[in-house]
Amino acid sequence: MSGGWTCSHQIGNICDLLNRVCEPGTKGCTLYGKALFSDPTTPSNEAIERRERMRNKIEMEELIKKARSGI
Ligand code: SF4
Repeated sequence: MSGGWTCSHQIGNICDLLNRVCEPGTKGCTLYGKALFSDPTTPSNEAIERRERMRNKIEMEELIKKARSGI
């Protein structure tokens, strides 16, 4: 039994989804935008950070709207 995570799309070192060498967290990978990687240059990290920034912006706009309406 092997330890660690394996991807069902990985055949050897090839991704059968993207038809190229497996590069976890790249655009098109099933992990893109779902997993944070220790390598800060992994595209998935930017997608997560972008979503977090958008969520924070929406929350801030809702707070401002409530504050203005006196709720
Ligand atoms: S690139 Fe992503 S989807 Fe493709 S084999 Fe690697 S981990 Fe799986």
